[in-house]
Amino acid sequence: MSDKCIFCRIAHGTAEASIVYEDSTVIAFLDIQQFHPGHALVVPKAHVPDIFDLDDETGAALMSTLRRVSRAVDSAFSPDGINIWQSSRAAAGQDVFHLHFHVLPRHTGDYWHYSPVRRSPSKAELTEQAAAIRGAMAST
Ligand code: AMP
Ligand code: ZN
Repeated sequence: MSDKCIFCRIAHGTAEASIVYEDSTVIAFLDIQQFHPGHALVVPKAHVPDIFDLDDETGAALMSTLRRVSRAVDSAFSPDGINIWQSSRAAAGQDVFHLHFHVLPRHTGDYWHYSPVRRSPSKAELTEQAAAIRGAMAST
């Protein structure tokens, strides 16, 4: 746990997030900057900086949650597809140095690669999106 790390603070409940799922190992919450509604992040609760520091057990828990959150986002927002996106180290575009996987809803013809055009939804919008995903998690 690092007080300087925003994802550690979210994982320990000392910073706000629109949470869609959590257990003892993994937390998933909405990205605050989105291209399409439903863009979520799946994150280990422990401070794992990047993919190179990930152990097998935590990796398996992350993959299980990625699968479930992807299905829930698909069910709640009906994108045409989903990218699972992970950047490790600055050279790869990592901005937050606590491992995270993006669940990126995609629509046919929207963009290629990571969109430079992103929105910052209001807290009310994020709360509504999180409720829709949480509701869909039950049937994943
Ligand atoms: P990356 O470039 O893969 O490191 O992406 C970091 C992501 O974290 C970006 O998409 C940010 O919008 C997102 N992000 C940063 N701070 C927060 C936060 N407090 N809550 C939710 N998402 C965040
Ligand atoms: Zn951290």
